[in-house]
Amino acid sequence: MTPKQNPTYHAPTVGILGGGQLGQMLIQAGIPYGIQFHVLDPDPEASCQPICAHFQTGSFKDADTVFEFGKNLDVVTIEIEHVSVDGLKRLAQHGVKVYPQPEVVALIQDKSLQKQFYAQHGLPTSDFVLVNDQDDLLSKATFPIVYKSAKDGYDGKGVQVLKHADQLPETSVFPGLLEELVDIDKELAVIVARSSTGESTTFPMVEMVFNPAANLVEELISPPHVSQQIQELGAKLAIQLAEKLEIVGLLAVEFFLNKKSNLLINEAAPRPHNSGHHTIKANAVSQFEQHIRAILGLPLGNTKAFGHAAMLNILGEPTENGPAQYSGVNPLLGIEGAFFHLYGKKQVKPYRKMGHVTLLAHSADELQQKIIQTKNLLKAHA
Ligand code: ADP
Repeated sequence: MTPKQNPTYHAPTVGILGGGQLGQMLIQAGIPYGIQFHVLDPDPEASCQPICAHFQTGSFKDADTVFEFGKNLDVVTIEIEHVSVDGLKRLAQHGVKVYPQPEVVALIQDKSLQKQFYAQHGLPTSDFVLVNDQDDLLSKATFPIVYKSAKDGYDGKGVQVLKHADQLPETSVFPGLLEELVDIDKELAVIVARSSTGESTTFPMVEMVFNPAANLVEELISPPHVSQQIQELGAKLAIQLAEKLEIVGLLAVEFFLNKKSNLLINEAAPRPHNSGHHTIKANAVSQFEQHIRAILGLPLGNTKAFGHAAMLNILGEPTENGPAQYSGVNPLLGIEGAFFHLYGKKQVKPYRKMGHVTLLAHSADELQQKIIQTKNLLKAHA
């Protein structure tokens, strides 16, 4: 009989490529695990800088820099997917545990490969066709349609809704893909964690409301205003995708629910995600702690939600530039179940993500009232 495995825990050294707010919250969750965090980011004033054991200023897009940064660490992970895959591959060959795996990062970096993966594996997604250049686009497009550059898009950059042929900006980057313009009823997300042991678990589905001017998530609501059936289907699809990718770590799966109630996978991010910030306060384990557990091969935590929750991004006011200040903090914190979380960014810029507010409530109505109150109160400005 083989003895039951009960390995000794050694607090590891963990490297994070990217030093923004997602990294910052990952470090906050990892400190109780005794982890020493090393962070690589080009900005010497990145959010992680004051709170990590070792901060290196440098490019996470450069393979040599990534390799030198991570070669003596136990585990290397990411908080942004636009990193050097060659650097990650070299680290993995060198014996460093790289989670998410370099192959998964490469697939996610390319929207065309991502969509083809969904189609090949029978996962529901909107219809699409690949295009190489502008002529190819014009010959294949039936308007209205959506054009997406295959690479380097995030927060809506590189996504264009085209109503007519003459709407294509000269700045469009090719190759890319044309996607059916989905008649969106709701945008939803499910974060799934898959451990290096193969265990998978999902967080409850959330509804995302976008700021149309900034193309950023402005508001999250949990539970979403959709049926239990849709919530369960989202969880099932997220687990299927995580398992087909064999990812280790978090995978945030973004969905469109169309007006015919079809749930379609839009895209996925292999890292902690804006759609899970509320989990720090609103769920038994946060997305950040779950990522730590997953990449260290530890048992995953209970993702149960305590009740109704919302997350509001604190975005820089549209015309503000300069040293950051916040108004409305005192009355906000006077609201029961309101918490704020700043990312330590010194400068405010229009629509810059400066922090977020989490609101907890006992009912959907109470939550809605608190959302309105918070939006009227809190402003980030110079
Ligand atoms: P990014 O990776 O930059 O976040 P997304 O693919 O998520 O890009 O697109 C950004 C936003 O554009 C989505 O949240 C959605 O509102 C809109 N969008 C993207 N694809 C479509 C589509 N096929 N039909 C309708 N709207 C879309």
